[in-house]
Amino acid sequence: MKIEAKELSKIYGKGESQVTALDRVSLRIMQGDFLSITGPSGSGKSTLLHLLSGLDEPTCGRLTYDGKDIYSLSDRERSAFRRRSIGFVFQQFHLLPVLTARENILMPLLLDKKQPDEAYFQRLSQLLGIGSRLSHLPCELSGGQQQRVAIARALIAKPDVIFADEPTGNLDSKSGGEVMEMLRAIQKEMGKTLVIITHDSRVAGMADRRLSIVDGVLTEVAGR
Ligand code: ADP
Ligand code: MG
Repeated sequence: MKIEAKELSKIYGKGESQVTALDRVSLRIMQGDFLSITGPSGSGKSTLLHLLSGLDEPTCGRLTYDGKDIYSLSDRERSAFRRRSIGFVFQQFHLLPVLTARENILMPLLLDKKQPDEAYFQRLSQLLGIGSRLSHLPCELSGGQQQRVAIARALIAKPDVIFADEPTGNLDSKSGGEVMEMLRAIQKEMGKTLVIITHDSRVAGMADRRLSIVDGVLTEVAGR
């Protein structure tokens, strides 16, 4: 999946109270790329992630996935596209408290009326080190384990692209490091595209392409 953003802007409000959250951002992401985006609070990181993933609409600009204009789709088509092609990981784990880890991971498939691929499920659980925790409720898991369950849930529908907004923001440095190592291993092994927003320079440094955003203006800082 090749993602191309052309001059994406997002302006909130009108007149005096108008805020340019994103200012003509252009970016090309190839399948298998691993990008990190850092920037101060309020610089437009979440806005950018919401636009790149089709969760929110830009004020102007274009976004294509393999040449297809995402914002020309209807809301329904766009959410179906997101469910199939994109996985999300957030700072808050957003697990359902009454479901076990296994049920939480399989939830997106149930919503889409799809059968789980048991071998793939087992492989994900193993890669994320949660194989022995699958019958536990979220409250019986550590923060790091909960985030690993959330990552398995993001991957279960076999998306091409993962967007993560501060995935280590609620974790101590040790479990945050473990979560990042696993996420990177999966990204490399499965050839996923990974876009991570982070405040943590250590996390940002793991990415192959590092970008920074200030006042809605995106700059590519380094690549390897
Ligand atoms: P970050 O994630 O980098 O902290 P955001 O993308 O959340 O920044 O916000 C960028 C700017 O846009 C901020 O000035 C914020 O106040 C503003 N903003 C974000 N969402 C809205 C909204 N729904 N309505 C009005 N202003 C918003
Ligand atoms: Mg944010």
